[in-house]
Amino acid sequence: MKLIILDRDGVINHDSPDFIKSPAEWVPIPGSLEAIARLNQAGYRVIIASNQSGIARELFDMTTLNAIHQKMHNAAQQVGADIDAVFFCPHAASDNCDCRKPKAGMFEEISKRFKVSLKGVPTVGDSLRDLQAGFISGCVPYLVLTGKGEKTHQTGGLPPGTQVFPDLAAMVAAFLKTPASSAAPN
Ligand SMILES: [Mg+2]
Ligand SMILES: [Zn+2]
Repeated sequence: MKLIILDRDGVINHDSPDFIKSPAEWVPIPGSLEAIARLNQAGYRVIIASNQSGIARELFDMTTLNAIHQKMHNAAQQVGADIDAVFFCPHAASDNCDCRKPKAGMFEEISKRFKVSLKGVPTVGDSLRDLQAGFISGCVPYLVLTGKGEKTHQTGGLPPGTQVFPDLAAMVAAFLKTPASSAAPN
């Protein structure tokens, strides 16, 4: 089984410093859903791992988060893309949970759910903590410069081997041309 793990905000959809609090605020980055469709066509199951502390902050509730994800799934479907599963952490940093990135909890859950090692699995994020959570889980980190990515790139301190691309569409175009040996899970 081939998996790829994506962050949501700033990778698939435009991010906002005020959080994505409603379906109306969820707007895809041009080319991102088509890139997911290309991954699907190449045999990849696409999984999201997303920090959603807006839940803990009571900026939106679970019903709204579900509605946001319904909009995402519908938009994906319209271009032939399928997002297999969405894992999210609803906690605030102060909750000290195990799932909020940069911790590896969501990645461990993904590994359990799909019964695969994450060694060599590509993961794409726009924040350092996305790449850190992936890296300690054995994933190969990719930074995109959309969302917070430009700032993340300037700040530096990226996990070793992090590859940088302008956006998800560019990452996927390059990734699907590279040999699968470094990208396929064991
Ligand atoms: Mg993000
Ligand atoms: Zn959590």
